[in-house]
Amino acid sequence: IKKIAVFTSGGDSPGMNAAIRSVVRTCAFHNIECVGIYRGYEGMIEGDFKPLTARSVKDIINKGGTFLKSARSKAFMTKEGRKKAYDNLVAEQVDALVVIGGDGSFTGALVFNEEFGFPVMGIPGTIDNDIYGTSHTLGYDTALNTVVDCIDKIRDTASSHNRLFFVEVMGRDAGHIALNVGVGAGAEEILIPEEDLGLDRLLESLRRSKQSGKSSSIVVVAEGDKTGKNVFELKDYVEQNMSEYEVRVSVLGHMQRGGSPSCFDRVLASRMGVTAVESLLEGKSNYMVGLIKDEIALTPLEQAVKGKSEIDQELIRVSDIMTT
Ligand code: ATP
Repeated sequence: IKKIAVFTSGGDSPGMNAAIRSVVRTCAFHNIECVGIYRGYEGMIEGDFKPLTARSVKDIINKGGTFLKSARSKAFMTKEGRKKAYDNLVAEQVDALVVIGGDGSFTGALVFNEEFGFPVMGIPGTIDNDIYGTSHTLGYDTALNTVVDCIDKIRDTASSHNRLFFVEVMGRDAGHIALNVGVGAGAEEILIPEEDLGLDRLLESLRRSKQSGKSSSIVVVAEGDKTGKNVFELKDYVEQNMSEYEVRVSVLGHMQRGGSPSCFDRVLASRMGVTAVESLLEGKSNYMVGLIKDEIALTPLEQAVKGKSEIDQELIRVSDIMTT
């Protein structure tokens, strides 16, 4: 392997820049070339490549988003599109790919590898932490800190006005963000897709906390939660059943995906980038670099795509105890 291409694909997350930087500098360290592909698979098809040297990735470790830009590509879902991408990579003399993204991006890489035998290595980048084979995806830790900070601020106004706040957080079908920020910000109740506690239990819990003398409350709701009601319907439901509460809703939205990456995400990105490049140089392919029990470890990409990242049951128990 003499030249590696790196790109970001799917939704962006803080830490992607740090991972690109790590891939580029690891290539430089091993005296091989590195090229960046703009806008993910879309740029691969259009030949939007740029050579990257150790110096071209200065001043980005602290920046959110991805300077290589990200995109979703319909064309890459077609055989013709992928053939075009392959021809561009061959013309550019690229020998292997590092893809930073989520499971959709990994699926694309697997399909591409199957068709053209191109070596690929994945780095998980998404705030949702919903990827099997790693305890932390890039951006997750930053998002947790961002969200906890927001909830702290919401609590200030909630307690000044004796209000109940439903705060919706991201995570798609996974409750990792909700569960962790719920515990970290001292929420009264946490609604996650992995556990449907039912609406009765929610009312019961809110009544209990009111009786115990609490004047304000925060309920963290994961966007994929399974109560069957969205956060605004939950507000109506609680107001209809519990007149004692004045309820407000806050949907945090895309601010959760931005911001300067935490130190944890920067370090993790640096470690993952090194392993991604060095594994390719060792002749490995079709793996995702992850963090398992605090150690960097490889998981076959196929498993990473098919497997389910389990919610932390012990933390659910901790959360139950904390909300009594
Ligand atoms: P996020 O977690 O933000 O959704 P992701 O990587 O899962 O990130 P997707 O939009 O699912 O994001 O996938 C990114 C891109 O990967 C798609 O736009 C498409 O170009 C490519 N891709 C996904 N699935 C396939 C597939 N089955 N075959 C070929 N390409 C695919």
